Amino acid sequence: MDAAVRQANTDTCVSFNTVQIDVKALRDNYTFLRKKSRAELFLAMVKANAYGHDMAVCAQILEQAGCDAFGVAELPEAIALREAGVRGKILVMLGFAPQNVEEMVTYDITPLIYDSGCLEGLSREAVRQNKEVGIHLKVNTGMCRLGFELPQLQDVLSAIARLPGLSVCGMATHFPEADDPLSSSTRECFARFNSFAAQLGDMPHVIRHVANSGATLYFPETHRDMVRCGISLYGYYPEGRDTQNRNELQPVMSFSTRVLQVREVEAGVPVSYGGTYITSHRSRLAVLPVGYEDGYSRGLSGCGEVLIRGKRAPVRGRICMNLCMVDVTDIEGVQPYDEAVLLGSQGDDRIDADDLAEKLGTISYEILCMIGNNNRRCFVGQ
Ligand SMILES: *Cc1c(COP(=O)(O)O)cnc(C)c1O
Repeated sequence: MDAAVRQANTDTCVSFNTVQIDVKALRDNYTFLRKKSRAELFLAMVKANAYGHDMAVCAQILEQAGCDAFGVAELPEAIALREAGVRGKILVMLGFAPQNVEEMVTYDITPLIYDSGCLEGLSREAVRQNKEVGIHLKVNTGMCRLGFELPQLQDVLSAIARLPGLSVCGMATHFPEADDPLSSSTRECFARFNSFAAQLGDMPHVIRHVANSGATLYFPETHRDMVRCGISLYGYYPEGRDTQNRNELQPVMSFSTRVLQVREVEAGVPVSYGGTYITSHRSRLAVLPVGYEDGYSRGLSGCGEVLIRGKRAPVRGRICMNLCMVDVTDIEGVQPYDEAVLLGSQGDDRIDADDLAEKLGTISYEILCMIGNNNRRCFVGQ
């Protein structure tokens, strides 16, 4: 067993609710994407605590599997990765605050730079620590989020060339529509990126990276020197459900709980806060210790489903903070302590993050963050 996984599993699961992270599925997804990619380097996006899957454990597993680099949003996450023993490149996608230059340099963190205001401070600190700091330039090609514009680039490059201790070692952009293989946006943004990259002239060591999961899967010409995969590593297609049944990616997270109590209810009885559901016939309800505090959104009131004894049990009435009720009238023999699966498979059936996302009008990314980051995780399948 991996040391990281062993350590993360030492606290025995005490809650009824368990998020399981399938380490083998994570490794398999990585292997698949790595084969799919034409780039020499691979960056695993582990921001948002690895989309709810545990950043330190996932990064350690992926680093052992050969992953070169890791992407996080902010510096504290990057430091936590270093403290967990990650040695690969760590990119902070949002840059850093001026008062944190010392940590940036001490921990060898690579910033994405989208504003030249931070460069002098970083240069001074690099010189003070007698280090060379590599920076990646973020350029805007259509996302309209962070990044330099084309006319600014020459000035930025000359400013960096004048500052001691700094060197440009990467250039990146981000696509707004790469999850849609039919959209022309990605090709247009990529062409704009190539105009930025052309201005670098003869800087062959600069890593050019643009491809998120969508571009890694659907736009191989954009892979360049490094791809940056997030959602696909965790087993989901960026555009949603795998309608073509390609089955190349395996969901890594599952979420289950236990039935607390089973109750018989007459017809005409209101269930849960506000009585929004009234039993239409004599029913059997299972009470589950899961609610919106556990990342099972209140938006699933009256429309969620869970798996018990391999069958679907619909959520009845409103989801409470730590409880909800599901209808098990049509499921034989349900008893307290039976397993209820909220995300994942049981018997021949499966509920995945895209199912929950469709009901909530969101995307799998948000479901994984909500469920993963609100529950105790345990790691299986190593
Ligand atoms: C989150 C993120 C990614 C990964 O996106 P996925 O769709 O999850 O693969 C790549 N690049 C940047 C800049 C990001 O913020």
